Amino acid sequence: MLNLQSQRFLDRLFFKYNKIMAVSYKDLGLVNTREMFKRAINGGYAIPAFNFNNMEQLQAIIKASSELKSPVILQVSKGARNYANQTLLRYMAQGAVEYAKELGCARPEIVLHLDHGDSFEICKSCVDFGFSSVMIDGSALPYEENIALTKKVVDYAHQFDVSVEGELGVLAGVEDDVVAEVSHYTKPEEVIDFATRTGVDSLAISIGTSHGAYKFKPEQCTRDPKTGKLVPPPLAFDVLDAVMDKLPGFPIVLHGSSSVPQEYVDMINENGGKLPDAVGIPEEQLRKASKSAVCKINIDSDSRLAFTAAVRKVFADKPGEFDPRKFCGPARDEMEKMYKHKIVDVLASDNKLA
Ligand SMILES: [Zn+2]
Repeated sequence: MLNLQSQRFLDRLFFKYNKIMAVSYKDLGLVNTREMFKRAINGGYAIPAFNFNNMEQLQAIIKASSELKSPVILQVSKGARNYANQTLLRYMAQGAVEYAKELGCARPEIVLHLDHGDSFEICKSCVDFGFSSVMIDGSALPYEENIALTKKVVDYAHQFDVSVEGELGVLAGVEDDVVAEVSHYTKPEEVIDFATRTGVDSLAISIGTSHGAYKFKPEQCTRDPKTGKLVPPPLAFDVLDAVMDKLPGFPIVLHGSSSVPQEYVDMINENGGKLPDAVGIPEEQLRKASKSAVCKINIDSDSRLAFTAAVRKVFADKPGEFDPRKFCGPARDEMEKMYKHKIVDVLASDNKLA
């Protein structure tokens, strides 16, 4: 047993250690989501949330968002942390702020966000580590447990002015470690209770979007008689409307909102790939959603597709190429083009910096 004095000494030492280790996102030049979400809802647009795992993706995201003067959310998933290392990703995000300034953004608005945090501990570690926003995904838990876990994260994160995204309803599809066979739409009758009792800053809802590049099974879709391509079922805008009715002006988030551009799927398939019947969310529907209280739209698969399409094309055209810059460079350019298209034509977040 420790006596009181040595216990106090250990507490102080532990606090000092934590103080040294912990860093605030504010010192890194990052921002939380609060102000940008408010402006996005009032302005009828949505903030892009792009996942990143490597330097080329980050360069493309920052170049696209800086040149177009768009706020941006850099998302880090569990898979990204495992792949690239959390420490490295945080310093890359810090570097991204400086890069954005170099590109002419005097005051960039960049959020570093944890995507699909699945425990209090991981959310806490990200808060302590300089993230400005975290998602706690308790959507697979029973309702009351989701509330308790989300509230615990909110209570911790808000001490440091870090914003928190919660989730109600289940998205189908596969994204890193997040796997669900079937989706369950968010129940609008639960959202007031959830938002009030947890204190979350934003809510991810399920209205028919889905993770991955295979968002729908062919039997859920119809086929375009002219092209033979799959046409996905429409998003449940009635559920979105009902949620907005219950929580007027509350920031809503859509996950799994890649459109799986057919040009990339074709480019991949024409150059040795095999992605039969990959299908995403039509961009007109996302454009419509972004005009509502939907103020954050997550796009990950489209960047994977752009990257892979460009790399496959280089390999098919120049089988002798072995300098990674010669295939990662074109991949980066293709991703930048795709991000710019999303920012301007789908989310309308260009020229929206404060
Ligand atoms: Zn997601």
